[in-house]
Amino acid sequence: MTQTTSILIKDPIIIADEVHRNSILVVDNKIEEISSKLNDNDAEVVIDAHDKIAMPGLVNTHTHVAMTLLRGVGDDQALQTWLNDYIWPREANLTDELVYAGSRLAMVEMIKTGTTMFNDMYFYMQQTAKAVEEAGIRATLGYGMIDLFDDEKRKQELKNAKELIKSSHNTADGRIKVAITPHAPNTCSAELIQESVKLASDNNLKLHIHVSETQDEVDLIKNEHGMTPFKYLDTLGALSEDTIAAHGVWTTPDEIKLLSERGVTVSHNPSSNMKLASGIAPVADYLENGVNTTIGTDGVSSNNNLDMFSEMKLTALMQKVNTLNPEVLKTRQTFNMATVNGAKALGVNTGELKEGKLADIVLVDTNVAHMVPLIDPLSNIVYAALGSDVNTLICDGKILLKDKQLTTLNEQEIIDEARSAALQL
Ligand SMILES: [Zn+2]
Repeated sequence: MTQTTSILIKDPIIIADEVHRNSILVVDNKIEEISSKLNDNDAEVVIDAHDKIAMPGLVNTHTHVAMTLLRGVGDDQALQTWLNDYIWPREANLTDELVYAGSRLAMVEMIKTGTTMFNDMYFYMQQTAKAVEEAGIRATLGYGMIDLFDDEKRKQELKNAKELIKSSHNTADGRIKVAITPHAPNTCSAELIQESVKLASDNNLKLHIHVSETQDEVDLIKNEHGMTPFKYLDTLGALSEDTIAAHGVWTTPDEIKLLSERGVTVSHNPSSNMKLASGIAPVADYLENGVNTTIGTDGVSSNNNLDMFSEMKLTALMQKVNTLNPEVLKTRQTFNMATVNGAKALGVNTGELKEGKLADIVLVDTNVAHMVPLIDPLSNIVYAALGSDVNTLICDGKILLKDKQLTTLNEQEIIDEARSAALQL
């Protein structure tokens, strides 16, 4: 780990509330100052960034990072077939070692493509926590609980969730938070969801759950409970400012109003929703109604990568063609979904380049053909940039990527290990 305590990022184009050229001083883990008066003597490390764009680190609000090992498994299948025939049989072979290898591969991919924080739900989460701690990024981690309406299973799942709180909450200098993560309303009993809500509120934790992902799920919940999924969750007390609902594809106009009233965050996953043909989430309506809306990649096997730049672009394009209105999802709104809205959802003081915020900063190369000219830097970031344009990444005031080289992780070793781990699934 680089032991730098102060970093001067000299002269980048900064994407803040306005786009301007200035210098950024990082002291410890915070943005201390943004001004044109800073000079080389002000910091121990100076990064010349005159040909870079500085932006807040991207926030991936819904993923299952260890699924990197399942990249390319079960392409071109419907969600239920994909799960039953391809994903679940392989996941049955997971071990601590395999989840660690998959998580480490994801750390490499995320850091190299500009993600500084992610929100994850999966199994063997202590291994993902270990990978996060070593990599130096931020994460909210939850043990994915599925009881399939079985009493014994429910007790065991809650026990696992409690163990994760004990082992990992507020670890890695506070970079790791634990969330309570019942999988979905159609795979978890009402009791499990209610107990999850209580566990989250007793421990002041976020509640992260898949909701309204497919039409089948909505039909099932309607048949079973006589109401749509978000309304059903509301009867269980599961909708609050601490709730992050992944997908929200089939949400009704009434439910959108409810989400806005309750302060729920919706994590939109455009690649996954398109690849599994789940549908098109009403993101333009969410934003119109003041619902905090963010972006996630979902797991790699329904994406098939963790590149938040492509996810930003797809978010905007999908809404424009769906509404036949090119004016929806302005570049600023799309950018905010991938940054500050995600930080707000996870309750972390980051997602913006402002004095006093945590220093989670990405520097993007502009001296490449597809970033020229720079008429509107924000537009280039949302529509033209690729994850591979990320040159430098700082998280919590530490440099994790410098000139495209990882400082905390051995990239080749991690790639080799992941390649052999994938063969065991
Ligand atoms: Zn998911």
